[in-house]
Amino acid sequence: MTTNEEATAIKNIITRAVEQNPQNSEILKAFEPIIIMQRHLAAQSSSKSLDYSLIDKEKLRAGVPVSRQIKLFLPEDSLKEIAILMATAVKEGMPQLTENIDMISGLIQEDKLKPADYFKAFMDDNKAADDWGKNLKTSPSNASFLMSLVSRVALEQRAKEITAALGAFDWEKGCCPICGSFPSIALIEEEGGKRFLHCSSCGQDWRFTRVSCPYCEKEELKGMDYFYIENKTQESAFVCDKCKKYLVTIYRAGKVFARDMDISAISLIHMDIIMQGKGYEPMTACVWNVLS
Ligand SMILES: [Zn+2]
Ligand SMILES: [Zn+2]
Repeated sequence: MTTNEEATAIKNIITRAVEQNPQNSEILKAFEPIIIMQRHLAAQSSSKSLDYSLIDKEKLRAGVPVSRQIKLFLPEDSLKEIAILMATAVKEGMPQLTENIDMISGLIQEDKLKPADYFKAFMDDNKAADDWGKNLKTSPSNASFLMSLVSRVALEQRAKEITAALGAFDWEKGCCPICGSFPSIALIEEEGGKRFLHCSSCGQDWRFTRVSCPYCEKEELKGMDYFYIENKTQESAFVCDKCKKYLVTIYRAGKVFARDMDISAISLIHMDIIMQGKGYEPMTACVWNVLS
């Protein structure tokens, strides 16, 4: 597909999502240029390839994700270029952030703010990432919003290269085999009933059993609890009463329409609002589901 065809495909998916959940049209439209730019950049190969032969399939089988076997971010990665391009997409979708994003983008351009340092801090210690850019008079929340969008692009490039290099492998955990994050959304195929989990940190999808909670792995042989909204049978939220987490879930009959799992997740933010209102927490924080 050309860049234009890719962009049109994403716009069509967003148009259908808006038709199904018109109440979320504003946020879906705000994310449109961001997702178009992310998919476009993630389709390019990473600037520096890793030695994927270091990944051990036996460790994967035992539940050790790739992120705990090799370093997924390198200081040489072209994170600066990705950050500057993502900043333009954020301004297009969220013009109210223009002033702040311009300031952050300017600092990155001048190397006063280094995305690579953010990721280094993030890998070493989450708290350090909070301090990143603290002395530069930027809005820390906008800077980390931008960095999480950049992180997705870099991790998706890696995830694609890793899965191509590895071929088939066994993985039975509820967290992502590549980056170790918990899923943002699940998809259940109506025919056959298989459940697939999706990671919004790196874009990876993997199959997971229907009878246990992806977060705490509690097994429930009688069937798990799902919350539905009246008249909406294609959308639900899986809930676990042991760990008090939820996972938005969609059902798919056939494969008629192209899907984008992140767009599906954003189109279900009304579920996030309801479930968080009931005292449950999402399995993972995404840029769209952190409500408080
Ligand atoms: Zn992942
Ligand atoms: Zn659980």
